[in-house]
Amino acid sequence: MADETVLTARELYRFYRAGEEETLALRGVSLRVRRGETVAVVGPSGSGKSTLLACLAGLDEPSGGEVRVGGVRISHRPETERARLRARHIGVLLQTRNLLPHMSVGDNIRLAQRAAAGRPAVSAKKLLGQVDLAGRGHALPRQLSGGELARAGLAVALANSPDILLADEPTGELDGETEQAVLALLHDRAARGCAVLIVTHSAAAVRVADRVIGLEDGRTVGAPAEPDRQEAPDVTA
Ligand code: ADP
Repeated sequence: MADETVLTARELYRFYRAGEEETLALRGVSLRVRRGETVAVVGPSGSGKSTLLACLAGLDEPSGGEVRVGGVRISHRPETERARLRARHIGVLLQTRNLLPHMSVGDNIRLAQRAAAGRPAVSAKKLLGQVDLAGRGHALPRQLSGGELARAGLAVALANSPDILLADEPTGELDGETEQAVLALLHDRAARGCAVLIVTHSAAAVRVADRVIGLEDGRTVGAPAEPDRQEAPDVTA
């Protein structure tokens, strides 16, 4: 059977240095996500979730270790190459920053599509239909309700039919009903073969996940994050 792994992180480390202060935000995180799988990453504030997501998306560079997307290394490359790989393979859904405020929802989608030139484009109209926003393509982000904004952000993240969808607290500010709608859309994406990874505090989001990866102090905790690989013994300094 073909290897269905689409996202692999191996021994990711991330140091931040601010003056004398050094923070180890990631301390050797390894994980993989397969096609069709929804994985939730949970952990207390400061445990490294956002740093991990940024490294997986190629928005940030790990200090050590590597990230592979569909077998291709995305880490340790110039920013322009990471951006190209990201546009072609990864949809990133951020809580508040997915839409440019001065452009209509439809134009936001088309802009994301231009960044991935060559990728077969789904029309903005079809995408908006898929997230229950048919007819809202001309609206500016500020004209949308919270739930509509969340779904519009999702349409932008899905603009290039990504192999991987990475979402940072996608339901953080939503009411229960809207949260369920967004989670159903994410789950639907996984059912169509996308690999979905959600960083979340939400119990509802954890419930829709096939697998949960716990992060604590920059390390994975609990069940192995790579189910078919033996966990390496914890090495402490
Ligand atoms: P979480 O998303 O789980 O709240 P983060 O990934 O934001 O955790 O942060 C992990 C650790 O890295 C925290 O101690 C945080 O203070 C630190 N950190 C995150 N970003 C930076 C940065 N740009 N500069 C310095 N320290 C940072």
